[in-house]
Amino acid sequence: MLKIYRVDAINPSIDIIRRAGEYIKGGNLVAFPTETVYGLGADTFNGDACLKIFKAKGRPPDNPLIVHIADFDELNKVATDVPEFVWSIIKKAWPGPLTLILPKAPDVPKEVTGGRNTVAVRSPAHPVALALIKSSEVPIAAPSANKSGRPSPTLAEHIVEDYKDDDIDMVVLDAGPTFFGVESTIIDVTKNPPVLLRPGPYTLEELKALFGMDIVVPEFARGLGEADTALAPGMKYRHYAPRTRLTIIECEKYEQLVKLLRDVAIDNMKKGIRVALLITRETSEMLLRDYPEIGNLPIIILGYRENPYTIAASLFDSLRNLDKINVDLGIAEGIEERGIGLAVMNRLRKASSFSRVKC
Ligand code: AMP
Ligand code: MG
Repeated sequence: MLKIYRVDAINPSIDIIRRAGEYIKGGNLVAFPTETVYGLGADTFNGDACLKIFKAKGRPPDNPLIVHIADFDELNKVATDVPEFVWSIIKKAWPGPLTLILPKAPDVPKEVTGGRNTVAVRSPAHPVALALIKSSEVPIAAPSANKSGRPSPTLAEHIVEDYKDDDIDMVVLDAGPTFFGVESTIIDVTKNPPVLLRPGPYTLEELKALFGMDIVVPEFARGLGEADTALAPGMKYRHYAPRTRLTIIECEKYEQLVKLLRDVAIDNMKKGIRVALLITRETSEMLLRDYPEIGNLPIIILGYRENPYTIAASLFDSLRNLDKINVDLGIAEGIEERGIGLAVMNRLRKASSFSRVKC
């Protein structure tokens, strides 16, 4: 059964947090908000409890979890040989949406790391997540709380949507919408120079300044090409995907992008394909002004092109909404790979299974 408790995002009820903490201690699952997306957590040191996460999500066992800690000192319980420069980075970046890959401590079970000798760790900047970890008295291992392959939950309602028909025991702490809306940035600091495994709210530009060195950005971190191991989310498996087919329009010049969006929409409509557009507020205004012939199409607004944080925040909800309107194809507007735009494009490209039309 899903036990849903509403909590205040800033000042959660001590009583409810204590109950959820007991749940973790008892080897059970708690879905909780972070500043990125909702996570599905269990006691890091309890392999059987962590196994329940994989079972609930339908997650492949070689896709590892992220360990969430509340106090930096706890890092020594889950990781070893943490270099001095990494400690100085942690002091600046945590709590925050930055996950570090480090050599694992012996007590971290194989269920958490997917059998690797490294572990992913971060300290989340969300009062509810921090309170839950403290109350549990253990680091909490958690992936995103969605069913495997689905868009990550940015609202507790998304979790209910994914698990309502399951015979499952889970506490859900509902604190309303998460802040960033895309998962944490993941960086492998066991490599020199460090490698970006997944772009997120902690932007590449910020990372370069934080590390004071170059960061390697593999093609898969941009959401292009696949890797043969599950080193970072979406590298190996279908990810973030709506059930409806999705394609992305990518152009450098904005005027060309708007025209191509219109052309691809018309082309598909002529073939009898039911189309919806996932576009920014600016683009919807431009399209309706310049191409009124497509004014009747369903439109899902992806936030403001001018402020890509608004696009990130609404992205997964938009992908879920695409499945709620009755269409055959979603056509999504691509944005610039700058700042959090890199994370948005990574998720969009994976959600579309790499289907895109370029200028
Ligand atoms: P999620 O929060 O659902 O995106 O899941 C956590 C992600 O962290 C996984 O998809 C992993 O690919 C990544 N991750 C966790 N541990 C490691 C590790 N040891 N090395 C590389 N990536 C990792
Ligand atoms: Mg995930």
